[in-house]
Amino acid sequence: MEDKLKERLDNIQLEIDNVAKRANRDINDIKLLAVSKNHSIEKIKFLKKLGISTFGESRVQELLEKNEKISNIKWHFIGHLQRNKVKYLMRMDNLVLIHSLDSWRLAKEINKRAANNNRNMDLLLQVNVVNEKSKYGIELGEVYDFLRDATELKQINIIGLMTLAPYDAKKYELHKIFRELANKRQEMQNKNFDLKELSMGMSNDYQIAIEEGSTIVRIGSKLFGKRGG
Ligand SMILES: *Cc1c(COP(=O)(O)O)cnc(C)c1O
Repeated sequence: MEDKLKERLDNIQLEIDNVAKRANRDINDIKLLAVSKNHSIEKIKFLKKLGISTFGESRVQELLEKNEKISNIKWHFIGHLQRNKVKYLMRMDNLVLIHSLDSWRLAKEINKRAANNNRNMDLLLQVNVVNEKSKYGIELGEVYDFLRDATELKQINIIGLMTLAPYDAKKYELHKIFRELANKRQEMQNKNFDLKELSMGMSNDYQIAIEEGSTIVRIGSKLFGKRGG
């Protein structure tokens, strides 16, 4: 198990390096988020030994359970977040970023629960770039109003944008989707919103996402191997 994990990690890091060079990007601007959902605490511990310090989970219950079993790592939450579960996450000091802010009601709930816990919370606004019915997230056209209104919520900081590309998209479609999100971020930066992160790209499309400007690639299966293994 350990040899395989190390080999996969090395391969991904090498590939990220190569794509960054090709795209004339600074490697330090691209972070690998290890998505550990469905995978064991043993694998997480081993990757931690190899220097990975931040992991992503998409279900609250699974995150809370894993967090009990390991210390000195940071977590990102990347899945759809139900409002009634926000309170559990806000108690976790080592939860440093939520990628999946997908509604105004959720923003208000996070703001309220963060205040109760005397903390601030960094968030990414999830954008459903091609308006897939099956996906969460706000539309591109709603981003500006959302960011503007969110400046009123003092405990939350929206520090970037996130998207999930359609599962069956072709290469040129992926380029287009990621570019649209990157352009939206630039447009918002021009309006003085400080959006330093662009979370896009997973196991199957992270190279394309990096070419289009991604700063966080969320890699699960390509790193951890098949589910549960
Ligand atoms: C599971 C998941 C990933 C990782 O997916 P892989 O295809 O296994 O790399 C990335 N982002 C989100 C939001 C996920 O739920």
